[in-house]
Amino acid sequence: MSDPDRRIWLDGALVPWGDAQVHVLSHSMARGSLVFDYMSVHETSRGTAIFRLSDHVARFVHSCEMVGLPLEQGTETLEAACKAAVRANPGARVVKLNAFLPSIEVDVVPADDHVAVAAAAYDPWADVTARKAVPPPRPPKTVRIWLEKERRQRRPDIMHPHAKVAANYASPMVAKWRARQRGYDEVLLVDEQGMLAEGPTTNFFLVDGDGTIRTPPEQSVLLGVTRRSILAIAEADGRKVIEERVSPDSLWVASEAFLTGTSAGVWPIASVDDRPVGRECPGPVSTSLGARFRQITAGEDPDFADWLDLVDDAPAAD
Ligand code: PMP
Repeated sequence: MSDPDRRIWLDGALVPWGDAQVHVLSHSMARGSLVFDYMSVHETSRGTAIFRLSDHVARFVHSCEMVGLPLEQGTETLEAACKAAVRANPGARVVKLNAFLPSIEVDVVPADDHVAVAAAAYDPWADVTARKAVPPPRPPKTVRIWLEKERRQRRPDIMHPHAKVAANYASPMVAKWRARQRGYDEVLLVDEQGMLAEGPTTNFFLVDGDGTIRTPPEQSVLLGVTRRSILAIAEADGRKVIEERVSPDSLWVASEAFLTGTSAGVWPIASVDDRPVGRECPGPVSTSLGARFRQITAGEDPDFADWLDLVDDAPAAD
């Protein structure tokens, strides 16, 4: 299978997709030390834009700090790299920004701590998934969830859930794989006390019978850019929103629940452990928030126009 005809920004140069490689013995492969962020790209009437670029780059820099990776680039260069990658790859729908230790290492602490940075702009479906020998089906419109029962590792005293580091995805991978083997679409992870936390790549929201929207507090989840956006949109729409710990029992009396994320947008939850959530799915709150979120990302909502960073108004980094 041939590589996509795309170029990746790697340490300041745009290189062909197939040349952006690391050694199998690199520190990032061996220890899971790669830090990343993932943002969406949109064609708008004002031009091609990245959704909340500066917030994603700020989270990326913070993740590197938490893991101790000594980034050599500042925020401005990282933002310019993302824009350069999008400009070089027309039709891209996402940008993945990676920081990793490419050096071959023996110890957990690298002797060579050069951190390589890669910004890849591409279409995840056309460039990656559809090229698999057996492409999996596209995600369903509403999601059937399995509640995690075995692992409770959303703990700030191990690697903090705020760090978007590859190592933090090992437990969610195990949990989601088990959920898939049982026939579910997605897993909902719990914190160390068994309270609801987040999905492997999404945040979690619940709507009570009186319309109050609740989401687990910041300490047990990744600070999702979509989560923050949905909280702001809900408030602008005059809805009551609360960030507090949510028990699994709340699911059975909720009128709606949904996941949010860069890929998922607003993703309504149909059932958890085969029990339906609410009376209808998608419910009115998730439908309305999802529609406004799509409008904003398409550049059709003047109230949130500053959430879109145009890729063409920057000094070139390529
Ligand atoms: N939680 C985790 C663990 C994630 O990996 C993601 C995806 N980045 C999210 C939540 C959702 O974050 P965002 O809205 O920024 O995509």
